[in-house]
Amino acid sequence: MPPHLRLTDEIAESAALYALGLLSKSERSSIERHLAEGCSVCQTEISRCGDSLALWSQQGAVAPRASLRQKLLQSIRERQVTSAKANSPILLPSAHSGRLKRGQ
Ligand SMILES: [Zn+2]
Repeated sequence: MPPHLRLTDEIAESAALYALGLLSKSERSSIERHLAEGCSVCQTEISRCGDSLALWSQQGAVAPRASLRQKLLQSIRERQVTSAKANSPILLPSAHSGRLKRGQ
């Protein structure tokens, strides 16, 4: 696949799983091929995830893999929710509720 132009949720999740070593062999090698093609977006995200992991273990907060994965995926989801809120238009109350009809 061609280098990415910007970070997407999918990349963030793959990068997190890659940094945690939780990808399957084929997923892993496809990411490594992709990195070898010089995608700086993926490279940056993976090293960012790696830094977080290093930080957690330095702090002595070494958790079992499953909970580490959960924590990381949760933080990704929270970020997705935040950006989804920022991007979506404000929903107005439905104009078809009928409560605004006049004359009755
Ligand atoms: Zn990429």
